[in-house]
Amino acid sequence: MKKKAILLLSGGIDSAVALYLLKSRGYDVIALSINYPGRGERERESARELARLTNTKLIEVDLPFMREVDELWNNDDERPSHLRNAHPSTIPARNAIIYAVAAYYAEVFGIDTIVAGHNADDTKYFPDTSREFRRFISRALTIGTYIGRARGLRVIAPLSGLSKTDVVRLGLKLGVPFEYTWSCHNNYDVPCGQCSGCLARRRAFNELGVKDPLEEAISNGRDWWLLRKKSLIKP
Ligand SMILES: [Zn+2]
Repeated sequence: MKKKAILLLSGGIDSAVALYLLKSRGYDVIALSINYPGRGERERESARELARLTNTKLIEVDLPFMREVDELWNNDDERPSHLRNAHPSTIPARNAIIYAVAAYYAEVFGIDTIVAGHNADDTKYFPDTSREFRRFISRALTIGTYIGRARGLRVIAPLSGLSKTDVVRLGLKLGVPFEYTWSCHNNYDVPCGQCSGCLARRRAFNELGVKDPLEEAISNGRDWWLLRKKSLIKP
């Protein structure tokens, strides 16, 4: 029987590498793309393109109530004390919610593996990306679902031991088309180059001495997103 997994696919580097890793290991993948407010169209489209390129079924789930902490409270004084030092990209209980959504599809499709793309850097900022959390939620889902009772239901993060740089290195080996990934936290047509997402991405490619294929495509005028927009504008 072919191995099956549900993958949380954002359109970023980590989940794209996780997708190609699963495919290289022979998994049949169903990808979940979670749409929360403020998620840019280019990132959503990146997830769709990555799914299309790998012939992966993609399910988009709208979760319109999920907001980042810096959107929930207008200034730091309003922010509850327990979230005072939270990373601005934090979405309250994000992975508790997302793993539960994935568990729904795991139960529906009879799949016993949920895959998240977290890397080792994530665990420094986000408690819900920790190994311990995945271990406990896997235990809870195994007890609390039919698929779990039958076969166990686990949440795994195969890249969690790798830094961003190591994830990019692995992705290059697996042939990930990085020009279809999106790391910028801003909803622009090209990366802003300033946000933490852009900086982490640039650092990873720089450390490997490799030019980012996305940057290269943009500077050569061959960026798929910009070309598509241009052709839409043309009569
Ligand atoms: Zn950016």
